[in-house]
Amino acid sequence: MCSEFDIIRHYFKRSATQAVLGIGDDAALIKATDNTELAISTDTLVCGKHFFADADPYKLGCKSLAVNLSDMVAMGAKPRWVLLALTVPDNLVQHDKTWLSEFSAGFFALADSHQVELIGGDTTSGPLNIGVQIIGEVEVGKALRRSGAKLDDDIWISGRLGDAALALNHELRQITLEPNELVECLPALLTPTARVGLGQRLISLAHSAIDISDGLVADLEHILAASEKAAYINMTDIPCSPVLKKYLQQPLVMNCLLTGGDDYELCFTAPKINCRKIENLSAELAIPLTRIGEILSGEGLIVKDAKGSAITLETKGYDHFIA
Ligand code: ADP
Ligand code: MG
Repeated sequence: MCSEFDIIRHYFKRSATQAVLGIGDDAALIKATDNTELAISTDTLVCGKHFFADADPYKLGCKSLAVNLSDMVAMGAKPRWVLLALTVPDNLVQHDKTWLSEFSAGFFALADSHQVELIGGDTTSGPLNIGVQIIGEVEVGKALRRSGAKLDDDIWISGRLGDAALALNHELRQITLEPNELVECLPALLTPTARVGLGQRLISLAHSAIDISDGLVADLEHILAASEKAAYINMTDIPCSPVLKKYLQQPLVMNCLLTGGDDYELCFTAPKINCRKIENLSAELAIPLTRIGEILSGEGLIVKDAKGSAITLETKGYDHFIA
């Protein structure tokens, strides 16, 4: 039999290197500094909502951290510490001897690659549920906020959008992709890569930022609402994979691109004068950064098709409480 404390000790406990006090007490301790603010956020992955029950545990470990790293990117913060609140069914502990080792290996692989330290958490038995809290650091007053968009800013996107939602729709049998097409799209769903480092470099270049978790339209509208601005974007400028482009005439696939979510790419706005610098940053970091529209005065978002006509969307993005 494996107890709660066996699990913590065996799979998660490591000695702290960055924190003053890590795993093992009632709370962890981290040192506050004079010139930084702490960016703190949490994101939960729920079995049956965010992943299938038979999901690969290594990839799940990676993804549960990646979705949290993505929030740090959006704030321009350097991710430093994480806490892991894990609820795991008894059978995955007592009978499946590999689940916890695979999950923790995936989690630590991504954490280590960004020097992020696991400093605590909670371990309970129940339906599989993975809650991660993340803490990052950002220079006082410098964090990127949703509320900073200015008139005439360009709207930029990192990477490409829609593949995760397209792969999910294949898994849900809403569309059938060719096997090689699925291979192209599935990594975006199973192992998203947060753009760690990009947000910190954009602090001096961007006015506002958000990470795309619920879908481009819904998330960009959060920037617009917080900044009290309007915008247009050109659908044909939104970067996407050749697979998604092939099926883009289908409304379902257009929705994957515009409102699908689970992208964990960055959407940010920046003054036109910084365009060249952002293009140079894109080359330096080898992260595609693409201009897709502009901030306007007023309110609301217009999505234009290839002919410049406004597209009407049935939904704006993923919402847990609205089917
Ligand atoms: P408490 O009873 O005070 O909540 P616990 O006995 O639950 O503390 O946890 C013991 C220690 O193990 C704490 O430092 C806690 O933060 C850490 N911990 C528990 N579960 C995890 C986990 N899944 N990952 C990392 N640390 C964990
Ligand atoms: Mg306690």
